[in-house]
Amino acid sequence: MKTVDIIYRYGAGDAPKRRPPSDSNAAVRRLNAGNRDFAALLDHVNDTSGVIEQIIPVDPRDLGLEPSGAGIPKQRPFAAVLGCSDARVPIELIFNEGPNDLFVIRVAGNGLGAEVLGSLKYAVEHLGGTLKLIVVLGHSGCGALTTAVDMFLNPGDYLTLATKHSLRDILDRSLLVVQASANKLLSTFGSDVSRHPGYRQALIEASIVTNAALAAHSLQQEFSTNERTTIRAVYGVYLLETREVWVPRLGDSKGIGLAPAPSGRDDFVELGNAVVQSSRIASHLKSKD
Ligand SMILES: [Zn+2]
Repeated sequence: MKTVDIIYRYGAGDAPKRRPPSDSNAAVRRLNAGNRDFAALLDHVNDTSGVIEQIIPVDPRDLGLEPSGAGIPKQRPFAAVLGCSDARVPIELIFNEGPNDLFVIRVAGNGLGAEVLGSLKYAVEHLGGTLKLIVVLGHSGCGALTTAVDMFLNPGDYLTLATKHSLRDILDRSLLVVQASANKLLSTFGSDVSRHPGYRQALIEASIVTNAALAAHSLQQEFSTNERTTIRAVYGVYLLETREVWVPRLGDSKGIGLAPAPSGRDDFVELGNAVVQSSRIASHLKSKD
């Protein structure tokens, strides 16, 4: 087995530094490339022995190491990321980013509660000089969406949450997404689909994608009205299995990389079709085990 070193390197003035992305497209390209590199890093880790190094250049100024002496770094992230609190999805690490690159908010189920919206509003209004992008990142195997699906499938269990308002705050906003995903599976695969052994898993996966897409759409609407910024919202699902960021896309069987937030009903219809046609989700409904 290979040894893998992921190194955050900062040092002398001639150490390589990365330029911040100039616009939202460049920001998407940088995040996609960073995730591609991170995912590939471990692809062949079992093949042979040796050392693989991944070096992430860090500007000393981002750690308060000004040439003239210690100072407080100015905050200058190029993207704000709303991700899940799940410990298996460390945001900077999976995008090959370092300190002061990303403004990160993590909350179970990556939903849009008041504090999340307030934090993003702060980022958009106060960090607009460098901030180019808002990313909503769901992930496979999300416990929050799994619980929402189980509540949807067994409404009686919801009674156990009757007085647990903090948990209901997280789950309630997911139930609409679960309902919409269930409707799409029903209209595509027929009324018997809910009896298929793979139905629950397919519904979880479809809900995770739709949940991230809806949050990205909401954020795009929220911030596109702000004339002081041209912030763009994108979304993706981090796959724990391959460490890649994925979105189902029609005509693209792999679907790797962040996708633009759906802009309206037509985009959501297209996304729904891509979800049910994706091999990742449809495969649960083909196997009988
Ligand atoms: Zn999660």
